[in-house]
Amino acid sequence: MTNPPKPKLIVQKYGGATLADPEKIKHAARRICDLHKSGTQVVAVVSAMGQTTNQLIDLAKQVSPHPHLRELDMLLTVGERISMSLLSMALNDLGCSAISLTGSQAGILTDENHVNARIIDVKGFRVEEALTCNKVVILAGFQGVSPVTKEITTLGRGGSDTSAVAMAGYLNADRCEILKDVDCVFTADPKIVTNAHPIKNLNYKQLIEMTNWGAKVLHHQSVEMAQAKNVKLYVGSAANAQSQGTLITSDFKFAKHQAVAVNSFANVFEIQINADIDVAPKQFLSLLNQSNIGRAQFLHSENNTHFITAPEETMHALKAFEAKQDLYKIIKNDIAAISVTYSEAVNDADLQQAEKKLSEEKIKNLKSFALMYSLHFFVTAEQKNAAIKALHSFI
Ligand code: ASP
Ligand code: MG
Repeated sequence: MTNPPKPKLIVQKYGGATLADPEKIKHAARRICDLHKSGTQVVAVVSAMGQTTNQLIDLAKQVSPHPHLRELDMLLTVGERISMSLLSMALNDLGCSAISLTGSQAGILTDENHVNARIIDVKGFRVEEALTCNKVVILAGFQGVSPVTKEITTLGRGGSDTSAVAMAGYLNADRCEILKDVDCVFTADPKIVTNAHPIKNLNYKQLIEMTNWGAKVLHHQSVEMAQAKNVKLYVGSAANAQSQGTLITSDFKFAKHQAVAVNSFANVFEIQINADIDVAPKQFLSLLNQSNIGRAQFLHSENNTHFITAPEETMHALKAFEAKQDLYKIIKNDIAAISVTYSEAVNDADLQQAEKKLSEEKIKNLKSFALMYSLHFFVTAEQKNAAIKALHSFI
């Protein structure tokens, strides 16, 4: 006798905005219930409702200006517990048997860092057990437990995307759907570029660079993990199951060499280093890494040195500069990085064409370089939006 075919398994992640009030939670429950009724196994990973995480951080700061990080994690994980239990109640009321699990109950194992932990392993036995009993599993995103310290940890802001991908990888899910209050990934922020348009397909390679250089559509670690575990990703609308989102896979290839998306972030500093330029920056970065800052780098050129850091890590970096004032002086801090990500590796001709466009638009290009799939430009914060619009004309 042959075994019956394995049922389809989908991990869906519902962002905070899509669960912001009871109506939205009930809407998500109906969507999950419909999917489950169609014979698909569902794990729904949830974020905290609306602005809950920000409110919890504010609350902590009213009690303690620099909250103890273990306790901050204890507090922040409450946000996702609220959404998971409410969503599970709504599902059970619809006659769809569901169980909510915290990150630690679901076997999301992390390193021992608080506030910015990394997932090191998944031991999702309870999730599998519940799926076998035909239950929908609601998993609290953004959190795990360290097997070393036995403490509850959080994964950094926006980290529930990474929880979803980790669980999808562990369960070998058919796909991981990141459901949001926007329809898909766009060629640029539609608030800045009015004719930005939807992107239907992407390869991990492009999306990794886009999220590393400011695209907020997904947590950067989640895309790296999706690539490593070959998890098929889909970014789509939570409100409208019919609308077309963006599919991200390893085998997608664009038909031609073309610019795909423009992104930006405003965390670039021009730095004067009063020490050995070959040694001091390396020491500085290793110091930052100890305080768990992963995405920081110095860029040296003939006339100047720039320091780039991920938005969520800027405060740590600034504190570190302050502590080493004798060695580092911030000369300019209102610099934005703009990146144009291409379908294939970029070349000199792409760079020259873009530089020419910026100069025609009278945008001062403080530094530019081509790296892998993206061109990068540093401009003053004041000219950021003009530069984004100018560069988007290539798409
Ligand atoms: N609720 C957390 C945050 O706002 C995690 C997440 O949304 O992914 O950062
Ligand atoms: Mg959130």
